[in-house]
Amino acid sequence: MKNIWLSNLDYQINKIKRINEAAHTKPDDDEEMPEDDEEMPEDDEEEGPESKLNDRQKMMYEHYEHVVEAYGKFNQSAKANGSHYAPAAKNPFQKNGMVCGNCVYFVGGGGCEIVSGKIEPMAICKLWIIPQELIKE
Ligand code: SF4
Repeated sequence: MKNIWLSNLDYQINKIKRINEAAHTKPDDDEEMPEDDEEMPEDDEEEGPESKLNDRQKMMYEHYEHVVEAYGKFNQSAKANGSHYAPAAKNPFQKNGMVCGNCVYFVGGGGCEIVSGKIEPMAICKLWIIPQELIKE
């Protein structure tokens, strides 16, 4: 059985290696470099919605991604491999902001990074990870 904690450690180590390699790689001659006074783009990872998560949610975010890498996307059922997806018409938490459209895994156009099939923006599933600032109590 795959050890999720060790695979997460491997993932983090590889990520650091990639960052270090990128920092020590010379750009191609024809690659355009920004001028010194030009503003450098922010790191994408810090700009994404996942940067608004608390520490517990960040860990969940990483782990669900590892689960999907190892076993494929969750389906929409309420079974063992399912996400217990509730379509918009059956989502009782819409008024609380608990909707797929606020979830870090939602992909515009009706998709999800970790759940298969068509995903409605106003639906929800048990795997939601939504920044606290978007949840109304
Ligand atoms: S709540 Fe999040 S994880 Fe679940 S189906 Fe919607 S977008 Fe995907």
